[in-house]
Amino acid sequence: MRALVIHGPRDLRVEERDIPLLGPGDVEVRVRTGGICGSDLHYYKDGGFGSVRLRHPMILGHEVAGEVTAVGAGVTAVSPGDRVVVNPSLSCGTCRFCKAAQPNHCMDLRFYGSAMRLPHVDGAFREAIVCRSSQAVVIPPTFDLGRAAFAEPFAVALHAAARAGDLTGRTVLVIGVGPIGALCILAARYGGAREIIAIDRLAGPLRVARGIGADRALNTRAEPRALEPYAADKGSFDVVFEASGSTAAIATALPVVKPGGVVVLIGLGEEAPLPVTMLVSKEVSIRGSFRFHDEFALAARLIASGDVDVAPLLTRTIPLDDASRAFELAADREHAMKVQLAL
Ligand SMILES: [Zn+2]
Ligand SMILES: [Zn+2]
Repeated sequence: MRALVIHGPRDLRVEERDIPLLGPGDVEVRVRTGGICGSDLHYYKDGGFGSVRLRHPMILGHEVAGEVTAVGAGVTAVSPGDRVVVNPSLSCGTCRFCKAAQPNHCMDLRFYGSAMRLPHVDGAFREAIVCRSSQAVVIPPTFDLGRAAFAEPFAVALHAAARAGDLTGRTVLVIGVGPIGALCILAARYGGAREIIAIDRLAGPLRVARGIGADRALNTRAEPRALEPYAADKGSFDVVFEASGSTAAIATALPVVKPGGVVVLIGLGEEAPLPVTMLVSKEVSIRGSFRFHDEFALAARLIASGDVDVAPLLTRTIPLDDASRAFELAADREHAMKVQLAL
């Protein structure tokens, strides 16, 4: 089978690999489509992020969907021919965080296409993958695999929404409309938010934000003072989702969040100074949000049922042989939201 291997910054190669052996409890999937994620782009552009660095070649990718081609002994929940979306996160099930229902903090987590461990965990941009049956979530037989492959990033947004608490009737600000910010708009709407404002510094993502139901989408590069009215009378937002990864975003969020409000940080970027005085005096809760857990199955179900429509976020699907072009397009935030590889 063919796989997309990253050797270093802007060095992607399509290589032949053996299909792993199918053991008891395993499922073999013919992968058809895979979304390029922000983390894939970090490896592509910089060879990693923060202290996480590529130390050896690694198959990229973790947002994939395809068809089951074989199942190992004892597998009953999935059958050959089923369409599935693959959960890229495999927790050990036995460490103290797994036992405390926090498997996204597993001490021995294996996440596809991640250089956090050594040796790195290979990813899913490959024609065939063998996963545990618990990782293969069945979707309806005719459902579009490209939309299904949004389950992973949508799970990230649903987890962030869960970290924010009940969104019913809430006023929400989303900072940064990349794929995760856009999916936070959909998650907040699904969660019953009353009003959703999105900000970004580019016109293209803001058009997408309006198209998927943001009540207002403001360009803070063209209008640096666009949020000022929302800072009046101690702030306007019950919840702020920070999905830009920019250092300045916390300083943007605190003046406009209401006293007692919640700021959920999802974006990973540089370290940021914390404006402690305003945080204390407004009694703001700052909560980190990292990956997901139960939300993966929920994300797959909401997408496959049509309750949440992710189709407007898919910019283009590009063949594996043109992977570098696909990554360059995905890195162009003005013109691309989500780019997927056809495998
Ligand atoms: Zn992702
Ligand atoms: Zn664990």
